[in-house]
Amino acid sequence: MTDTAPQQFNFKAETRQLLHILIHSLYKDREVFLRELISNASDAINRLRFEMLTTQDVVDPKAELKIHIKADKDNRTLTITDTGIGMTREEIIDHLGTIAQSSARKFLEAAKDKNLDASGMIGQFGVGFYSVFMVAEWVRVTSRSFRPDAQAVSWHATGDDSYEVSPADMTERGTRVEIKLKEDAAEFAEEYRVKNIIHKHSDYIGFPIYVGSEEKPVNKQTSLWRTARNEIKEEEYKDFYRQTTLDFEDPLLHIHLATDAPVQLYALLYIPAKAERGVFSLRKDDGLKLYSRNILIDEYNKDLLPEYLRFVQGVVDSEDLPLNVSRETVQSSGLMPKLKKVLTNQVIKELESLAKKDAEKYNTFWKEFGVYLKQGIAASPADAETITPLLRFKTNLQPDVWSSLEEYASRMKDGQEVIYYIVGEDPKSVLRSPHLDAFKVNKTEVLLLTEPMDSFMLMGLRKFKDYELKNVAGAEVEGVDQPRAESEAEKIPEGDFNSLIEKFKQALGERVTDVRASNRLVTSVARLVDADANSNPDLQRVYKYLGKEYEIPKKVLELNPSHEILKNLLKLEPGSELQTIVIEQIFDSALLVEGLHPDPSSMTPRVQKIIEAALKMK
Ligand code: ADP
Repeated sequence: MTDTAPQQFNFKAETRQLLHILIHSLYKDREVFLRELISNASDAINRLRFEMLTTQDVVDPKAELKIHIKADKDNRTLTITDTGIGMTREEIIDHLGTIAQSSARKFLEAAKDKNLDASGMIGQFGVGFYSVFMVAEWVRVTSRSFRPDAQAVSWHATGDDSYEVSPADMTERGTRVEIKLKEDAAEFAEEYRVKNIIHKHSDYIGFPIYVGSEEKPVNKQTSLWRTARNEIKEEEYKDFYRQTTLDFEDPLLHIHLATDAPVQLYALLYIPAKAERGVFSLRKDDGLKLYSRNILIDEYNKDLLPEYLRFVQGVVDSEDLPLNVSRETVQSSGLMPKLKKVLTNQVIKELESLAKKDAEKYNTFWKEFGVYLKQGIAASPADAETITPLLRFKTNLQPDVWSSLEEYASRMKDGQEVIYYIVGEDPKSVLRSPHLDAFKVNKTEVLLLTEPMDSFMLMGLRKFKDYELKNVAGAEVEGVDQPRAESEAEKIPEGDFNSLIEKFKQALGERVTDVRASNRLVTSVARLVDADANSNPDLQRVYKYLGKEYEIPKKVLELNPSHEILKNLLKLEPGSELQTIVIEQIFDSALLVEGLHPDPSSMTPRVQKIIEAALKMK
């Protein structure tokens, strides 16, 4: 190879596949190719700025940082030029010959799946540079790296299997992408159309985008987070969010913050409407964009907010970050914990005030993100106090309303000293739990904890104010009045009851540690409680969810001495089959409401026998 001869390369298999799809399918949203190219240009300028923080030894150090677009209607060409970091020969082969992006891979996979409408998705997935082949007959990329010793290089492709690389004579720093538009894509050689696309997709690109010979940039170009709040319209906040995330749902909340003490910072944060980052999202990871003096230094910074707020999107910009900053030193500079503290407090504060101002919206937030906050309590009990006011619960007395612990506390009965909770599988069936019998009669409120994460949360949440949290499934729950100062007449006489207990013990054998009378059951026949007062049922659940080797801990079966079923059970012929299967069923039902039954459908044959017997009796 001589220095001047073009050299031919083949695209990697995956790239060929992507090109084939882009060229041979019809897409509605072809205009997004321009968004992708502008975004690449802006990234390239950002990276240059980042280099220039530490070195002035670059080509054209004084050149304006900008993007220029020329639309030539007569020749049907479009040219996008930037004064960014540029590419060397190796870089251009490396970057434009292979797919770098994970979203492009996702797109490929989706396109394979015939049921998905790939054409609807292309605008939303950023497939990056290659999207240009939706509109291009050919593309030439000419680039001059910022490194003073680099040679300019040119890359040319038609969307076939190969591309060509040759030396070029470009003296100014940056990259120029020339596109010969397909006949049916001539619209993109019209200036008005180009401007239109910029407004729609790229208004908040931080560098000026000039079109044609105009001296005024087309884009807004403002760092919205540095603009005074009272100058920003609601719609602009939403637009900015849309353009930076491609989330098409409006965010639930935006938080715009500018402070000078204890650290200088600007922040524009958003709480999305949904916890799931859609496959279409531009954001490929959690984390905030971190700028130092308007220069992007980290696209996905995860040290600015605690784990449990990782769903928050947005931008943070601080003048206090040292200028010789690099992605690594950002972490080690003492500034980060300070920024984190300010941001965390602010997010919590705004959420609290949302809860006060607009409870309905807060509930939407809670339903979507509550599980993150619960996880926060589980993972860092030190944060529990901060997070606790944000928690919401349903209760046995108000099963359709979300209540805060504060509200629960304000409704506590005179003399109540603890906060009661019950852990169950789902909000409906937990209400049928025998553990709630006494609380129902007394009208004592009990929190319903029915999400897997709740068991984890409980490990970090043992108290609210001075009130301890107490599981009602425990054997002894102080403070619950005897539900019934029941007339002895209603109860099964002691002698009979003892023989009944014996029957249960015989039938259940090793499966229970004891059978005894309960004084807390009202409408339920039986309940299971822990044999050992010290055992921790919450922890047992945690083990179960973690899929740890989990054996159902043996429990004590407590019976309701006044219950009709037991009275009738006594009337059956002693030792009869029906008596035994009813005992078995009472035990299985108790396991079931506890969420401990290993195989609920195994009950079916027995239930059938019981039905048959019941029908015979009438
Ligand atoms: P992505 O931008 O998501 O990484 P692309 O396929 O759009 O994926 O681009 C691939 C790579 O090509 C980029 O990561 C970048 O390194 C390089 N590149 C693309 N456009 C430019 C440009 N205008 N200036 C410098 N490098 C560029």
